[in-house]
Amino acid sequence: MPILTEIQNRREFLRTCARNLTLTGLSLFGGAMLLRKHDDRSKHVCINEFICSGCGVFSDCILPQAMSAKVKNTPQR
Ligand code: SF4
Repeated sequence: MPILTEIQNRREFLRTCARNLTLTGLSLFGGAMLLRKHDDRSKHVCINEFICSGCGVFSDCILPQAMSAKVKNTPQR
Protein backbone atom coordinates (compact mmCIF):
# COMPACT_ATOMS: atom_id res chain seq x y z
CA MET A 1 0.00 0.00 0.00
CA PRO A 2 2.80 2.53 0.54
CA ILE A 3 3.62 2.43 -3.21
CA LEU A 4 0.02 3.36 -4.08
CA THR A 5 0.11 6.20 -1.56
CA GLU A 6 3.38 7.44 -3.01
CA ILE A 7 1.93 7.42 -6.55
CA GLN A 8 -1.15 9.29 -5.37
CA ASN A 9 1.05 11.81 -3.61
CA ARG A 10 3.15 12.26 -6.75
CA ARG A 11 0.02 12.77 -8.83
CA GLU A 12 -1.33 15.25 -6.34
CA PHE A 13 2.03 17.03 -6.34
CA LEU A 14 2.01 17.27 -10.14
CA ARG A 15 -1.59 18.48 -10.14
CA THR A 16 -0.73 21.13 -7.59
CA CYS A 17 2.29 22.21 -9.65
CA ALA A 18 0.18 22.43 -12.81
CA ARG A 19 -2.53 24.37 -10.98
CA ASN A 20 -0.02 26.79 -9.50
CA LEU A 21 1.71 27.31 -12.85
CA THR A 22 -1.64 27.97 -14.49
CA LEU A 23 -2.65 30.46 -11.81
CA THR A 24 0.74 32.17 -12.01
CA GLY A 25 0.45 32.44 -15.78
CA LEU A 26 -3.06 33.84 -15.58
CA SER A 27 -1.98 36.33 -12.92
CA LEU A 28 0.97 37.50 -15.00
CA PHE A 29 -1.20 37.79 -18.10
CA GLY A 30 -3.83 39.78 -16.19
CA GLY A 31 -1.18 42.06 -14.72
CA ALA A 32 0.37 42.62 -18.12
CA MET A 33 -3.04 43.50 -19.57
CA LEU A 34 -3.68 46.00 -16.78
CA LEU A 35 -0.27 47.65 -17.11
CA ARG A 36 0.02 47.73 -20.88
CA LYS A 37 0.34 51.07 -22.52
CA HIS A 38 -2.69 52.55 -24.12
CA ASP A 39 -2.63 54.78 -27.11
CA ASP A 40 -2.08 58.29 -25.75
CA ARG A 41 -4.10 59.80 -28.55
CA SER A 42 -7.31 58.40 -27.10
CA LYS A 43 -6.86 60.55 -23.98
CA HIS A 44 -6.42 63.83 -25.82
CA VAL A 45 -9.28 66.03 -26.82
CA CYS A 46 -9.26 69.17 -28.82
CA ILE A 47 -9.70 72.32 -26.74
CA ASN A 48 -10.04 74.80 -29.58
CA GLU A 49 -12.57 73.33 -32.01
CA PHE A 50 -9.78 72.10 -34.29
CA ILE A 51 -8.69 75.60 -35.16
CA CYS A 52 -5.01 74.94 -34.73
CA SER A 53 -3.87 78.36 -35.87
CA GLY A 54 -3.11 80.26 -32.69
CA CYS A 55 -4.01 77.39 -30.38
CA GLY A 56 -2.10 77.53 -27.10
CA VAL A 57 -1.15 73.85 -27.08
CA PHE A 58 -0.29 73.52 -30.76
CA SER A 59 3.39 72.74 -30.19
CA ASP A 60 2.61 69.85 -27.83
CA CYS A 61 -0.59 68.61 -29.47
CA ILE A 62 -0.54 65.10 -30.95
CA LEU A 63 -4.01 65.09 -32.47
CA PRO A 64 -4.16 64.34 -36.20
CA GLN A 65 -5.33 67.84 -37.10
CA ALA A 66 -2.36 69.42 -35.34
CA MET A 67 0.06 66.91 -36.84
CA SER A 68 -1.32 67.69 -40.27
CA ALA A 69 -0.97 71.43 -39.65
CA LYS A 70 2.62 70.93 -38.48
CA VAL A 71 3.48 69.03 -41.66
CA LYS A 72 1.89 71.75 -43.78
CA ASN A 73 3.88 74.45 -41.96
CA THR A 74 7.19 72.63 -42.36
CA PRO A 75 9.25 74.22 -45.11
CA GLN A 76 9.77 71.90 -48.10
CA ARG A 77 13.22 71.36 -49.62
S1 SF4 B 1 -3.61 72.22 -31.72
FE1 SF4 B 1 -4.68 70.40 -30.98
S2 SF4 B 1 -6.01 71.18 -29.35
FE2 SF4 B 1 -5.35 72.95 -30.55
S3 SF4 B 1 -6.95 73.23 -32.09
FE3 SF4 B 1 -5.38 71.95 -33.01
S4 SF4 B 1 -6.09 69.86 -32.63
FE4 SF4 B 1 -7.21 71.17 -31.23
